[in-house]
Amino acid sequence: MDEEKKKKENESENGSSSGSQTPVSQGGLGTLYICGTPIGNLEDITLRALATLKEVDFIAAEDTRQTRKLLARYDINTPLVSYHEHNMKEKGPEIVDELRSGKKVALVSDAGMPGISDPGFDLVRRAIEAGIRVVPVPGPTAFVAALVASGLPTDTFVFLGFLPRKGKDRKALLDCLAVERRTSIVYEAPHRIRRTLQELRDRLGPGRGIAVARELTKVHEEILRGTLGDLDSLMEMPGLANPRGEFVIIIGPPTIGPPTGLVEGTPGGRMNAGPGYEGGGNHEGCGNIEGALDRVKQLVDSGMERKSAVKLVSRETGFRRRELYRLSLKK
Ligand code: SAM
Repeated sequence: MDEEKKKKENESENGSSSGSQTPVSQGGLGTLYICGTPIGNLEDITLRALATLKEVDFIAAEDTRQTRKLLARYDINTPLVSYHEHNMKEKGPEIVDELRSGKKVALVSDAGMPGISDPGFDLVRRAIEAGIRVVPVPGPTAFVAALVASGLPTDTFVFLGFLPRKGKDRKALLDCLAVERRTSIVYEAPHRIRRTLQELRDRLGPGRGIAVARELTKVHEEILRGTLGDLDSLMEMPGLANPRGEFVIIIGPPTIGPPTGLVEGTPGGRMNAGPGYEGGGNHEGCGNIEGALDRVKQLVDSGMERKSAVKLVSRETGFRRRELYRLSLKK
């Protein structure tokens, strides 16, 4: 095979450097690349992300100071435009105009995958609605790193982002967590982590397995594992006694405890599985129907059809659809 042919085949198998296997946008439109960047360790970036950051016309960055550090490390001089929660309503349409005029733009968060608990979603949606090609350039994301290291089930899980801070919405979510059968993942700020963990223990009971992942991929990385019943001792560990840095909480399902053996970061090593683990998969009746009904109402209020909301909540909680539907009409 001659060299030219080999090169072409290679490109079509692996994608070109900025990486798309899909053809270039039609009609002179540009492309929006959603670029994953490190969640701490600057070496956690793909070759394709680096090539993309180098090649695009500009980078829309959530935190330009943070992105500048990354670009400096890899000697990339692409111009930066600030795009964050507080300017996205004005900046979003401007960036879409640039894309319409044929520009190639990379979207980056201050850390991880854009669109995961940050304003990336808004820009992606605008771009799609304007007919712009959107290309993911995958990289790390904190919740996946935390989940896979937690030792809690990974086969099915629910990512909740940041919990509502207070009020009815927070209560409804905690009620849903109490009957949730999948592993659940929550992002939390350091000044709220202790209170949230205590609330989880009060609402979910002591038997649930949890992992608290802090400062993943960074110098002070720490993963505390145990049950909510172990919380008092977990909260004496340096990472939680005086919480600093970034946290992910992983909450196990009611049916399986934390891993046995020496548990990293938990005093005394092995934590007992505690009560609640011998239960089977059917939680009908063991959860809080009020919580499930609040969740249906919340979804309906936000525009979802009652039938779909009931279907979703039934899947999440195990309550029967017909029962949920009937009771939700009285709410
Ligand atoms: N886009 C990011 C992602 O893909 O994970 C998430 C952005 S969100 C604004 C920031 C939250 O992610 C933090 O408050 C923390 O809960 C979590 N997080 C980010 N980096 C982390 C890390 N290195 N270790 C633990 N949690 C982290």
